[in-house]
Amino acid sequence: MHYISTRGQAPELSFEDAMMTGLARDGGLFVPAEIPVMSPDDIAALAGKSYEEIAFAVMRPFIGDAFTDDEFKAIIARAYAGFRHSARAPLVQLDQNHFLLELFHGPTLAFKDFAMQLIGQLFQASLSRSGKRVTIVGATSGDTGSAAIEAFKGLSNVDVFILFPHGRVSEIQRRQMTTPTESNVHALAMDGDFDDCQARLKDMFNDFDFREGVKLAGVNSINWARVLAQVVYYFSSAVALGAPYREVSFTVPTGNFGDIFAGYIAKKMGLPIRELVIATNQNDILHRTLVTGAYTKAETIPSSSPSMDIQVSSNFERALFDMYGRDGNAVAQLMEELKSGGFKISQGPLEGLRETFTSGRASEEECAATIKEMAATTGHVLCPHTAVAVKVAKEHLGSVPMITLSTAHPAKFPAAVEAACGVHPTLPAHMADLGNKPERVTRVPNDLAALMALVHERRAL
Ligand SMILES: *Cc1c(COP(=O)(O)O)cnc(C)c1O
Repeated sequence: MHYISTRGQAPELSFEDAMMTGLARDGGLFVPAEIPVMSPDDIAALAGKSYEEIAFAVMRPFIGDAFTDDEFKAIIARAYAGFRHSARAPLVQLDQNHFLLELFHGPTLAFKDFAMQLIGQLFQASLSRSGKRVTIVGATSGDTGSAAIEAFKGLSNVDVFILFPHGRVSEIQRRQMTTPTESNVHALAMDGDFDDCQARLKDMFNDFDFREGVKLAGVNSINWARVLAQVVYYFSSAVALGAPYREVSFTVPTGNFGDIFAGYIAKKMGLPIRELVIATNQNDILHRTLVTGAYTKAETIPSSSPSMDIQVSSNFERALFDMYGRDGNAVAQLMEELKSGGFKISQGPLEGLRETFTSGRASEEECAATIKEMAATTGHVLCPHTAVAVKVAKEHLGSVPMITLSTAHPAKFPAAVEAACGVHPTLPAHMADLGNKPERVTRVPNDLAALMALVHERRAL
């Protein structure tokens, strides 16, 4: 299995190299050269299997000869051993034809653990074989950073640096990043907002001397291995509700388009998915794009669902690549236009997008009202990201089961949840002492040279 860039100018890489590299050298994202298909019989055979067994069956064709079957099974087992629910991704029923897929039973209480825990184990296995070391630098608006630190802390061949915007993450998110004691963890509070953090991260990747010098690796949601890990729970949940004999639909709270793109891959692999619904908060570039055909940046307005406060959805490039018939030049052209504010999608590709995805948005008021209504009618206390999705999903309920992805535990966002429904969500018992642990964090300026110097100085050699 080979991986090609969405901009068509980078060399093809193996799974392992694409995972270690993150971003292609032409600025594009890696996608598999072809998508493996599972037959209805293959899918039917997943019924009754454990999450780990389904993960192996779904992901195995994508990894080529990177690992033996036994190695890959052991990697998967280690990745999900720390989850606090034996089903890993349990379904709960909200209404006759509406289900929540709970993706927050991992160590940092958000769905990002599904991908990050796996990628941590994949990196460790690959690096201990090659004897190499890498430096991971990531930028976060909150959930990615804590999931990455949790996955990579204490691993022997990795230093992990996480840039987060000083004063702009929730206290719980900050403490998850600043309280681990392992010496390979470096939490950096940067002056600026999330876009500044992400911009400095991109600058580091574009400085090829630095990139080579520290063996820079990326784990942001553009990393293909992260998308792949997320394909699994589309299969496990659909099979639990009757696939391949019954169709299902999904609604996905969307920011960087990684999670819903995994659903698109599941569909291309043969999973009978009727609708893939994109749910956005007031930062609704994706919803506007599907409606108008124009992908135009607007200003990001902070919301109660901060992990979706994004104006440029990185993984959307992968969908565009397919819709433009896998024409890397066309995608490169669109991304060039994006630098000056936006682009218009041509008619054919736009029709393709509209056939594949539907969309909706929820305002702040609608999100809060949904949290309140669901607490009152079902007893389920939702995190704001999930509430955005539930609001949109209700507009798309039909004759097949709707599975709405529940991406975080409400206790990660206690203020917004309490304001909406009057219930103060409490952290699970194993995290109850988070507020008492000492914090370790370095305040850094929004300055590329200073950041690169710090990474050079802090990383172990
Ligand atoms: C990251 C995140 C999202 C958005 O996922 P994307 O893959 O970026 O679309 C939604 N909800 C929560 C809680 C998240 O952490």
